[in-house]
Amino acid sequence: MENKNFVSIQSQLASGHLTVSTLVSGYLKAIESTKELNIYLEVFAEEAITRAKELDKKFTADATSVGRLYGMVISIKDVICYKDHPVTGGSKILADFESLYTATALQRLLDEDVIVIGRVNCDEFAMGSGNENSAYGPTINALGENRVPGGSSGASAVAVQADTCLASLGSDTGGSVRQPAAFCGLVGFKPTYGRISRYGLLAYASSFDQIGTITNNVADAALLLEIMAGPDAYDSTASPETVEKYTSLDTQTRPKKIAYFKSALDHPSMDGEIRSASLEFLEKLKKNGHEVIGLNFDLLNYLIPAYYVLTTAEASTNLSRYDGVRYGHRSTEVNDLQETYKKSRTEGFGTEVKRRILLGTFVLSSGYYDAYYGKAQKVRRLITEQTKEIFQSYDYLVMPVTPSVAWKIGDKSIDPVAAYLADIYTVQANMTGIPAIAIPLGKNKESMPFGIQVMSGRHTELSLLSFANSIETSNLYIKNNTLL
Ligand code: GLN
Repeated sequence: MENKNFVSIQSQLASGHLTVSTLVSGYLKAIESTKELNIYLEVFAEEAITRAKELDKKFTADATSVGRLYGMVISIKDVICYKDHPVTGGSKILADFESLYTATALQRLLDEDVIVIGRVNCDEFAMGSGNENSAYGPTINALGENRVPGGSSGASAVAVQADTCLASLGSDTGGSVRQPAAFCGLVGFKPTYGRISRYGLLAYASSFDQIGTITNNVADAALLLEIMAGPDAYDSTASPETVEKYTSLDTQTRPKKIAYFKSALDHPSMDGEIRSASLEFLEKLKKNGHEVIGLNFDLLNYLIPAYYVLTTAEASTNLSRYDGVRYGHRSTEVNDLQETYKKSRTEGFGTEVKRRILLGTFVLSSGYYDAYYGKAQKVRRLITEQTKEIFQSYDYLVMPVTPSVAWKIGDKSIDPVAAYLADIYTVQANMTGIPAIAIPLGKNKESMPFGIQVMSGRHTELSLLSFANSIETSNLYIKNNTLL
């Protein structure tokens, strides 16, 4: 299907050249023809067709009666609750669980007539960087033979990449929308922590989790944010900060002050092609009149260790609710309560989730708390303070999204730490709560895409999206190109 941005879909709908029913049937065909990529855990085909017909009818009767998202067809990551639909978090432990309510973010989209075409695969409880930790098998990147799509919102990215929907909702705790977007050549956007309500999002690490989007372009991300953002009585961490008109992306080219970390580009894990493309991108920013300054950031190597101590600690607590009593899978071969907990969790959780629960329980245990959890909290504070300071002098912080392109399925599964290290550039935004966007930058010699990431101060989404939009629409954006 050619329809890759919402503005063009809307204009075709308005001129009568397209109906939502036609759109939906096109997406359903694409879903059918990409089954081998293992994108969808469930396709809501009947429901989507019925809804499309109703909406088309409503539109024909009165074009002004439809919502702002009339014609927008999305998929949702399997961690987002949708009333009366299953949600499993990519885990066996929730295999037969159905949502009792709808996530606030999704409800706001539904209220504007979005259509949800299905529920897509992900790493179990959003823990992973390659979509290889799902109990329902890996999802495959449509651009490379046997390449991962990234994770944990890997299938959300492939769903958009393979044109099975226009956009996808994911979650980003340490990079899970931005990294798969970069691996699949798309735009991945994580707003400020608390900008979008987490009500109805399965919790991984609550002080990091944020719903984000994977789209073909910045404008679609801005529209989805504008509708989802804002306070929510069901989530006390949802920010009361004014929701700006994010769709009014300004195209003014006032010179900006842009920082980057020298140590990030010189990092030993950094792929040579991505490094030179990123440097060239920074050069182009300079040539376009922006002030670009390389900074020292000594805390770079502390990001990953602190992130994994803190998130596993939070995960070990959050996942304690899956106890075989209140939710999902319950082992049948048990004699008492202790055994119910033990066996249900042993049978229900996958290896990576167990590893993190054990690690998280360890760092929180008395005797080790101060040495690990307490220390990681202090590191988080330092990183947050230093990051805040950067945004007192600079508008944006530019960073690669990933140190490499998508790896081959299985390549990192023997060494979990190698997979953790791949999050080096994305976790800072979650550690500090700032917004971050990944936009495609180029492709390497093997035609695998990579991205560039832009971050900005808390609640400066309008400025961030405008800048990303100006990159996307200018010669700074190197789309569908082999190396720069
Ligand atoms: N790869 C990171 C992790 O495994 C990020 C996951 C996420 O953002 N959900 O924790």
